[in-house]
Amino acid sequence: MKNKAHASSSGRERVFEGLAVGAGVAIGTVFRHDSRAVVQVRERRIPATKVRSEQHRVLEAAAEATARMETLQTQAKRMAGAAGEELGYILEAYQQMLSGSRLVRGVQKRIGEERINAESAVMKEIGLMAEAFAAMDDPYLAARMADIREVGRRLVESLGKEVDGSFEALPANAAIVADELSPADTALLDPRRVAGLVTMLGGVESHTAIVARSLGLPAVVASDDIRDAADNGATIIVDGATGIVIIDPTAATLAKYRKKREGFVKSQQSLKKLKSIPAVTRDGFRIGLQANIELPADVDGALAAGAEGVGLFRSEFMFMNRADLPSEEEQFTELSSTVKKMGGRPVTIRTLDVGADKLGDAFGMTPGPNPALGLRAIRFSLSRRKLLLIQLSAILRASAFGPVRILLPMVCMVDEVRQVRRMLTRLAAQLKRRGVKIADPLPPLGIMIEIPGAALAADALAAEADFFAIGTNDLTQYTLAIDRSDEQVAYLYNPLHPAVLRLIQFSAEAALAARIPVSVCGEMAGDERMTPILLGFGITDLSMSANSLPRVKKRILELNLSVISGKVRRMTSESDPDKVRAIVDELGSAG
Ligand code: PEP
Ligand code: MG
Repeated sequence: MKNKAHASSSGRERVFEGLAVGAGVAIGTVFRHDSRAVVQVRERRIPATKVRSEQHRVLEAAAEATARMETLQTQAKRMAGAAGEELGYILEAYQQMLSGSRLVRGVQKRIGEERINAESAVMKEIGLMAEAFAAMDDPYLAARMADIREVGRRLVESLGKEVDGSFEALPANAAIVADELSPADTALLDPRRVAGLVTMLGGVESHTAIVARSLGLPAVVASDDIRDAADNGATIIVDGATGIVIIDPTAATLAKYRKKREGFVKSQQSLKKLKSIPAVTRDGFRIGLQANIELPADVDGALAAGAEGVGLFRSEFMFMNRADLPSEEEQFTELSSTVKKMGGRPVTIRTLDVGADKLGDAFGMTPGPNPALGLRAIRFSLSRRKLLLIQLSAILRASAFGPVRILLPMVCMVDEVRQVRRMLTRLAAQLKRRGVKIADPLPPLGIMIEIPGAALAADALAAEADFFAIGTNDLTQYTLAIDRSDEQVAYLYNPLHPAVLRLIQFSAEAALAARIPVSVCGEMAGDERMTPILLGFGITDLSMSANSLPRVKKRILELNLSVISGKVRRMTSESDPDKVRAIVDELGSAG
């Protein structure tokens, strides 16, 4: 379905297809953005007496660009869902490239040796680095090359040169057409001025896609042929539900899509009305809908969407974008403020989920040969007990302000749960002796089921853990041996693969047999097409980004569990992913 372009018979109207990302229809004005364009700067010779000041200018520009990155980091933090987190990592890498790096030193050397102006020294240095990367002919390094160019652009921008394609001239109601959008660019976008996005590259899991979803913008990605067809200022329709993009639509097409857009806006408004309605299936099964929180600010979104609690509080943000580690006091302040804001609704706080690939620097970790399989999450916490004790202590203290649950990431051994439980019991006794107020009884201690081995040993783990939260993002990645961030294999990433479904089913059954609560908190929980399957497995609690919650609730209200459970059972005996997909489609229309 990708990149089929055909001219329509009506006047200048042209229709393109790409991959649909995010719902809704945008009717806007094309704003072209070429993030890969090489910045054009003029080379100027400088006298020897000016070398020092020109070199100093580079340092100042690097400091300014770094400061801008910091502002973007703050903006990224406000962004809901995975988008903010992803953006944060990349901006952090940009900052590192700017601070006393090979790039800045190379530029200064060049100014001294070639006696040229700072702008052209930056562009020459970038060109040289890009050439070296290109020669390696490796897709991963090619992506890093784009990052280097981006940093170069920003450096030149800080030196005072206007760079093409910045978003400052963004007209109202702009539909951005780009090869791709860098995360830093995306953070600069003012969503109130952007109607939609179209990119030539990227998959449905790309940065652009994640950001578009979290901002609620209609977007189409992987629409190859559109750049030559989309002139700045042209009228464009972006249908985020079907992946259709139309340039210069006829009056009839415009009228048709205006109607579709109105329908979408109305359905969004009616979804808002569901806020205080409980999620109950037509045959009376009550489903608990909670929110995933990445930043404290997300709590407001969760409450606005009618979340009944926090099903996953990703505590990593407290450790991001800082040179030191947060003290127990700082962690306690963040956590207790969330618990208080949730006003008696349960808050599930996950202990630190870092690995050598994520936040490694903050902890002075050396990446192992395979970071995804290395010292990460609970393994890391158990290897740095002092750190874990500080976090557990902050969580226990926060538990005095409302119902709290403690969740351990990436557990695969029964002993990991036992070790943490022992620590928790001892710590609680110490705190009580010191007269510190904590919850009594102690908060439940649960585990993420996100490693296939944990799912297959779910019966043994259910005897140790107080609850399960199934993390379908990592469970899919580890079951299918597909890196969830690698676009080259993104087409294989499929939570509907029978192996993944069976592991979810097995884990849910083990929890139900042991009578412990089980929820799903991976992206699958926020996809309403998956709702019948998860409910059919006996799962009664789902946690997702606040944006997805109303749509999932609507789906639950339409469902009749007794009708769908037979179909779900039939689906898990299928071993062919295509047949599974066909049954999912069937379930989509089942009520
Ligand atoms: C998961 O793996 O499904 C999950 C919820 O954890 P994260 O996305 O934070 O790895
Ligand atoms: Mg995970």
